[in-house]
Amino acid sequence: MSEETIFRKIINKEIPADIVYQDDFVTAFRDISPQAPVHILIVPNKLIATVNDIEVEDEVLVGKLYCVAKILAKQEGVDISGYRLIMNCNQDAGQEVYHIHLHLLGGKNLGKLISVEETIGE
Ligand code: 5GP
Repeated sequence: MSEETIFRKIINKEIPADIVYQDDFVTAFRDISPQAPVHILIVPNKLIATVNDIEVEDEVLVGKLYCVAKILAKQEGVDISGYRLIMNCNQDAGQEVYHIHLHLLGGKNLGKLISVEETIGE
């Protein structure tokens, strides 16, 4: 698996992004095509391509993505109003960038998780 994902370049600051958080393990930046008033991507600095590639040794790192999400939700003022955390895996979920990332979405009513039209059997 190539180390050269677009997110790798953002983490390394080789290409610009609106980075809102960075430490030795995690980088978070605003999505280039926001789907909600708050749309931040929270990414491990280590390349893990998909959820299927998460190893036992990554458990703490993946947990840290959620801890950063909590901090950023408060920072963005959506911790009380509410927000959604999504991690897509592979084609049917629409994963575009093969470097795992947690979408933090908020700032509006996000509706149901899957629209009624797309619900099985309807
Ligand atoms: P996925 O579909 O893989 O779960 O989400 C990938 C996300 O990355 C999309 O929401 C897309 O808008 C965002 N994205 C793709 N390329 C870039 C980029 O170069 N910069 C930023 N900030 N976001 C990007």
